[in-house]
Amino acid sequence: MFPTSIAGSLPKPAWLAETQKLWPQWKAQGEELRQAKADATLLWIKAQEDAGLDIVGDGEQARQHFVHGFLEQVEGIDFEHKVKMGIRNNRYDAMVPQVVAPLKLRGRVHAFEAQLARAHTRRKLKFTLPGPMTIVDTVADRYYGDKEKMAFAFAELLNQEALALQADGVDIVQFDEPAFNVYMQEAALWGVKALERAARGLACTTAVHICYGYGIQANVDWKKSLGDEWRQYEQIFPALAASRIDQVSLECFHSHVPPDLMKLLEGKDVMVGVIDVASDVIETPEQVADTIGCALRFVAKHRLFPCTNCGLAPMDREVAVRKLNALVQGAQLARQRYG
Ligand code: ZN
Repeated sequence: MFPTSIAGSLPKPAWLAETQKLWPQWKAQGEELRQAKADATLLWIKAQEDAGLDIVGDGEQARQHFVHGFLEQVEGIDFEHKVKMGIRNNRYDAMVPQVVAPLKLRGRVHAFEAQLARAHTRRKLKFTLPGPMTIVDTVADRYYGDKEKMAFAFAELLNQEALALQADGVDIVQFDEPAFNVYMQEAALWGVKALERAARGLACTTAVHICYGYGIQANVDWKKSLGDEWRQYEQIFPALAASRIDQVSLECFHSHVPPDLMKLLEGKDVMVGVIDVASDVIETPEQVADTIGCALRFVAKHRLFPCTNCGLAPMDREVAVRKLNALVQGAQLARQRYG
């Protein structure tokens, strides 16, 4: 009961990349960088196991950013000439590469870290990929001229990589779609369909993570503008409930999401965010168990997966480790309370 996992990313050690940044520069190059990525991946698998997480991941140590890491292996994208673009409906600016030609994978994207992770843990392994709609919102289009069309083009490439990850032995493929919470109508209209295209043919567990973003200032400010009740999920959960995706990861603790919206996900596993990634304050096991207790009013026991609200990438490394411990201890307490 209550298997624990994180949303996906973890802080990169200072010897691998700049710390506390969303687009950090690597500290090495070539073969040295490859080895450093491998070392950081193993380090975090060990840390997740030590903390007692039931489902572990690679901590996204081998990619610079959760979207651009995938794009680096896509033909048809010009990484040499990045442009400044407002992303997430102009919430913040990012330097993004440009789509300039038909999209095609150059080969495998994440084989190295997925196979490495698989070889070094017996626990369930979750692997994250960006969702098609979020990719479309994090790249400049100079070729397709149509968001939906480009999303489906990316979905086909994601599907190729997802099927290969499954063959690598990954147990759960999760697509990250923070853009769903920004473009709710488009998400319900075609975003979920593009997501299903990306997950087509997968026999392993499939998941989608939808959040209010990393704990960066632009997101903290945005959240302040959303009012007392955040009802974005209400517009997209029905389409997800009707989809073939198995699990939905959502933000809960310290958010203004009305918890009863989780009812809309009946029939799905729900990864409930019980750890705040926008604060360095470490949750107590009681707080975590309380959040799980609150979610239990709307989610069946066997479908509740305690998780973090979002990735931990821009956080302090020590804080992240302590948050992993809090997650596991809180889930243990919840098992005693509600078991
Ligand atoms: Zn997130």
